This record gives sequence, C-alpha cells and structure tokens, in this order.
Amino acid sequence: VKERIPVPAIPKELKDLAQTINDLLDQLQAQFEREKSFVSNASHELRTPLTAFRGHVQMMKRWGKQNPEVLEQSIQALDQESRRMQRLTTQLLTLARTGNIQMKKDKVNVSHTVQDAIRQLWRRDLKISLKEILNPHMYVLGDEEQLRQVAVILFENAIRYTNAGGSIEVRVFKVNNEICITVADSGIGIPFEDQDKIFDRFYRVDKARSRDTGGTGLGLSIAKELVKNLHGRISVTSKPGEGSIFSVYLPVYSKQ
Ligand code: ADP
Repeated sequence: VKERIPVPAIPKELKDLAQTINDLLDQLQAQFEREKSFVSNASHELRTPLTAFRGHVQMMKRWGKQNPEVLEQSIQALDQESRRMQRLTTQLLTLARTGNIQMKKDKVNVSHTVQDAIRQLWRRDLKISLKEILNPHMYVLGDEEQLRQVAVILFENAIRYTNAGGSIEVRVFKVNNEICITVADSGIGIPFEDQDKIFDRFYRVDKARSRDTGGTGLGLSIAKELVKNLHGRISVTSKPGEGSIFSVYLPVYSKQ
C-alpha cells in the first residue's frame, strides 16, 4: 500500500495531555470495576446467612413445636448465622470508614496494644501453644485502636488456621528505624500463588474453612488499610503444611 495516513501535527503537549487523560480514565474504570465487584461480593455474603435464616425459621415453624431437637438445632444455627452477619456488617463499616476517619496521633506502646489483642482472644481450650516475645518501650505514632484491630485480625487468623497441637509465636521488636510485629503460626499455610491475593477484599484460599470458623474474607484487607493509615506495610511468608508468618513494619516513634 503506497498511501499513508498523514500523521497530524499535534503539538507534543497536547499529545501528552491526551495520554494523561486516558490514563486517568483507565484508572477510574478499574476503580469502578473494583467497587462494583465489592458491592456484589458484599451482597452475596450477606445473602448467604439470610438464606440460612429463612430455612431455619421455616423448620422451626413446621417442626419446632413437636420436636425440641429441631428447635434447639435451629436456635443454635440462627445464633451462629446472626453472629456472622453482625461481624460482616461491622467489618464492612470499618472498611467504608478507613479512608475517611480522623486518625488519632498518639504515642502508642506497641507491645501493650498487641498484648491486649492477644488477651482478648486467647483461650486455653484451643490447645495451641503460645509464645510471646514482646519487647518493652516500642512506640509508634498513631491510633491505638486501629493498631489493636490489626493485631486482633492477625492473631485471630493464626488461631483460625492452626489446628490443635500447633503453635503460635508473636513478637514485637525493633529493626533499623521500624517497629516490627510478627505473628507466626504452625498452621495450614498459604500456597505461594495466593499470598498476594489474600490481602484483597473477600479473597479466601479455603472458603469452607474460613466460613466454618467465622471468617468473612475481609480481615486482611482491613488490616492492610489500617497499616497504610499507620504509614506502615504488611507482608506474609508461608509454606503450605508448615505455617505462615505475617509481619507488620511501622515507623518508630523516637521522640520522648
Ligand atoms: P478470613 O475472614 O477468611 O480469615 P482474611 O482476609 O483475614 O479473611 O484472610 C483471607 C484468607 O487468607 C483466609 O481466608 C485464608 O485463606 C488466608 N489466611 C489468612 N491468615 C492465614 C493464616 N494465618 N494461615 C493460613 N491462611 C491464612
């Protein structure tokens, strides 16, 4: 073909501007798709316990009066499902707020906060051994409640994905100019290809195990947002069948 379409003589600035606008549009589109899939995931997750609710109410209506066993089972199921919904809605609200809430800027004692979180969740009947190496005088600047929430999410997961007989080790220490919190477990571990994705909203490696133990698939995405608010970063190393180590690095607060 001999003929060529003439290249328009657009000034370079205009071309660059068009490129910038197109990039922005792509980002907006991607964000829009993420929001859409978030809403559809959230609706689905809320509908599941509601469907179970309705099923059990029907059972109680039909058999509950004659059969106390059915009644008892249904009440237990309703109790469990309503807890799940309560948890899910609380987490959805936390996620909705994370970008907007006013962050407190307090001097926070990391080891105290992490220890609080452990006390809140630890039960001896879990039959998991626990080791805590929490160095004193580890301070960061930020919101204590948000840091506690991060520790609760990581510690709760360590319990959730570790079988009886296993072990959990929590450490707080200083490396260079950062405070590091690690939560290590000897649990089921996470396949390499999933390790990035588990920080996405609603991503779960084993949906059944997560659900059966009260998980929602939102914990780590909340932890990631909260850690970002605290100007830190979160990462994981893990081997299926051997366990996982979650690490949070936060800038140290050194002024006394
Ligand atoms: P969930 O409520 O399902 O635990 P999270 O967002 O906290 O949601 O975690 C996402 C997924 O990451 C979990 O469903 C699980 O598959 C995996 N995961 C998180 N923590 C651990 C852990 N300590 N050991 C093994 N798998 C984990």
